[in-house]
Order: sequence, then structure tokens, then C-alpha cells
Amino acid sequence: MTTEYRVSLDRDACEGIFACLVRDARFVEAADGLASIEGGDAEAGGDAADAADQPLVASFDDDRIDDARRAAAACPVDAIEVTEL
Ligand code: SF4
Repeated sequence: MTTEYRVSLDRDACEGIFACLVRDARFVEAADGLASIEGGDAEAGGDAADAADQPLVASFDDDRIDDARRAAAACPVDAIEVTEL
């Protein structure tokens, strides 16, 4: 079963602790040492690596919302938000 949801990543808040990476492979380390989101339909922020000062927002329609939620829960600075659409 698939779910439509949106994942946002506040790169201003992100401290590059990478607790998210081990919980959801869509979170990756960008060249600037902060987290980025891979895949999905980018809704804002344009190219992930160029969007250092605005939140990245990507939408997905798949069965991985729980992974995204685990990543969000693990983030010590609450930089990740998962919203079911
Ligand atoms: S867990 Fe949070 S602070 Fe750490 S890299 Fe991921 S988004 Fe950034």
C-alpha cells in the first residue's frame, strides 16, 4: 500500500549529525556537510545541493513513509517534517 506524503528538511536547522541517514536512505550528505533529500518530486528549494538556506520539500507516493517518520523522530534538532497528503 502506498501513501502520498511530503518530506521537508530545514537545512538551516540541520547540524549534520546524520541520525537521519541510517534510518532512511533518501537522506544523504550533501557537499556542504548537511543533509539533503534524494528522489521524490522536488516542490521547493530547487536542486538540493544549491538550496543551502531554504527548506527542501519533496513529495513521495510510496510505502516508505514510516522510514521518513523514523528519520524525523531521530533528528535531534527536528529539522525533518513528514506530512501525509
Ligand atoms: S538528523 Fe537532522 S540534524 Fe542530523 S543530518 Fe539529519 S536532518 Fe540534519
